[in-house]
Amino acid sequence: MINRYTADRKIRSDDAYTPGNKAGKRPDRASIVYSQRCREAYKDVPLVLGGIEASLRRIAHYDYWQDKVRRSILLDSRADLLLYGNAERAVVEVAKRLDAGQSINQIRDVRGTAFVRKDTPEDWMEIDSTRIDRPGKVDKIINPYVNTRDLPQCEIEQSNAASGETVEMDAEDEVQILHIEPRVRLDRSKTVIRIPSFEKVSKDPVLYAHASRVLHLETNPGNARALVQLHGDQEVWLNPPPIPLTTEEMDAVFDLPYARVPHPAYGKEEIPAYKMIRFSVNIMRGCFGGCTFCSITEHEGRIIQNRSKTSILREIEVIRDKVPGFTGVISDLGGPTANMYRIACKTPEIESACRKPSCVFPGICPNLNTDHSALTQLYREARQLKGVKKILIASGLRYDLAVEDPEYVRELVTHHVGGYLKIAPEHTERGPLDKMMKPGIGSYDAFKKNV
Ligand code: SF4
Repeated sequence: MINRYTADRKIRSDDAYTPGNKAGKRPDRASIVYSQRCREAYKDVPLVLGGIEASLRRIAHYDYWQDKVRRSILLDSRADLLLYGNAERAVVEVAKRLDAGQSINQIRDVRGTAFVRKDTPEDWMEIDSTRIDRPGKVDKIINPYVNTRDLPQCEIEQSNAASGETVEMDAEDEVQILHIEPRVRLDRSKTVIRIPSFEKVSKDPVLYAHASRVLHLETNPGNARALVQLHGDQEVWLNPPPIPLTTEEMDAVFDLPYARVPHPAYGKEEIPAYKMIRFSVNIMRGCFGGCTFCSITEHEGRIIQNRSKTSILREIEVIRDKVPGFTGVISDLGGPTANMYRIACKTPEIESACRKPSCVFPGICPNLNTDHSALTQLYREARQLKGVKKILIASGLRYDLAVEDPEYVRELVTHHVGGYLKIAPEHTERGPLDKMMKPGIGSYDAFKKNV
């Protein structure tokens, strides 16, 4: 959809992901259309859906293009199984089980998968999502043309408070809120959380927000439980998220013999998006920022998965030696965030038990190890490689984290910035920053002083 339409929902005249930058080469809602075509062509072949679109649309979700809540993509695509997140493990497991003769409908216990089922199995304990998150109120949306600096703070708060009273829950949605966990400890591996149905979340923004919070609460692979959401008379079931790949596993994925050029079927025409990424290197996955507007945690998870330095340096050499047009400049050495490489909770046991949606909001958690030395060392060794003139860092920087390590900031601004560091305008305003669960502008001021 993003390839086809602008943010104003106007049809684009180009598409950076097609040869010759040509528009109109792919259908709307491509995952659904392609699934249907596959089904028509090969009726009896199991249909397994993956990728970012499937991943982010795995439960009932708000769809910007239609401005409404749509049901899980599983139902529209009629896929047998959906793999969400980075799904290497699940792909291999599902393929092996199919190869061993299991039917796709028997594969119900692979992490990072979602599917449709009729009922909750008898040996599972179901708990209502309102026992782990309290549905709240929705703040009134402030007129974007009003300068909130001119309004007294109490007026803004009053208008938000007033709006809270206008949002009512249906009588049938009113649930008793319990703040205590049952005394009997439930077996998490056999516990499923029931979130409000598609029909309810599509009518009620409070329940939508609640369901979304519960989804985010259940993203830590160390303690996440399965989720279930009713759509009509069908249950969309989500197994807990995948276990993060170890460094060795990440290296194995990234060291596969990729061609590093577009498929020959595309011919000689230029693909603008390829030009943008052909000299850039992905060093890690995941993000523990938990910003509310962002889909990374929902897709890649909150635990950082790192490649080894050796594997990253090797990839730079492969780019140098094999990618046509390389002039000595690596355009990015990054990931979802430029500077979360090798950063993690100090204690694995605490990390796997933690239920916080963010390690850096409202402030940096004292348990977070903010040492950037592995990244600094990687930059130093990367720019020493023969044939490499410049390494740029183009991924977004968490400056609240960066200031924790002045040596890293010095290294970055001295050697790896191609012009100016830029900050998006909404990232300077307290209101949006709070809503996005981003640190206040004070962190930026501290970063500027440091630089
Ligand atoms: S304890 Fe702190 S650093 Fe560790 S996972 Fe939780 S929020 Fe992150």
